[in-house]
Amino acid sequence: MIGVTENLRKIRDLLAKTAVDAGRSAEAVQLLAVSKKQPLSSIIEAAAAGQRDFGENQVAEGVEKIATIADDKLVWHFIGHLQTNKTRVVAEHFDWVHSVERLKTARRLSDQRPASLPELNVCVQVNVDNEPSKSGVTIDGTLDLVREILELPRLHLRGLMCLPAIRDDFEEQRKPFRQLRRLANQLRANGIPTDTLSMGMSADFRAAIFEDSTMVRLGTAIFGARTEQ
Ligand SMILES: *Cc1c(COP(=O)(O)O)cnc(C)c1O
Repeated sequence: MIGVTENLRKIRDLLAKTAVDAGRSAEAVQLLAVSKKQPLSSIIEAAAAGQRDFGENQVAEGVEKIATIADDKLVWHFIGHLQTNKTRVVAEHFDWVHSVERLKTARRLSDQRPASLPELNVCVQVNVDNEPSKSGVTIDGTLDLVREILELPRLHLRGLMCLPAIRDDFEEQRKPFRQLRRLANQLRANGIPTDTLSMGMSADFRAAIFEDSTMVRLGTAIFGARTEQ
């Protein structure tokens, strides 16, 4: 049996402790529970244990869970690759999108965000590994994309996100996260302050916290192995 409640308690303690070790406040890091390919029962257990933010990376699966659980207190984050033909349903159901990498997608999300809902929170996904096969805007292209997103009326730019290749060594893990942190500093120097650095997963969240992550996205550390659907 997977003890989601117990895992959450331990992880919250660990996030607070790691933040303090990194010279930050114990509350500096928010926990996004990545519930993709996890059963509804695990999400409901996590919500009952006080977890508020959940992340999904498949549009259909995420929307179905949002509708079935139907809990207004939960905050839903889309963290997967977003095809342009699926922007509408994401704009209508999610609270955040972490994976904006193109102006076309951003424009559609803004146009399609229902007037009855608050602005959609977005992060720009940056390809910090600079590998052509990877998702995300290049480091050099980030400032231009961010400036264009700021013009879109129904989006609220929150910050930057990255999904670097997994590395084993702690110091190596820190490097891509450091690049994202520096990029956020560069935005600030250009008059664009942001409040979110979405970085760190189950395997590398400690390194991300040492590079000022404000939101770690943890799946298996909370829920155990994912079921294939
Ligand atoms: C699956 C996923 C995660 C969580 O991965 P774990 O290794 O299970 O913690 C985080 N971010 C993104 C974008 C993901 O797709």
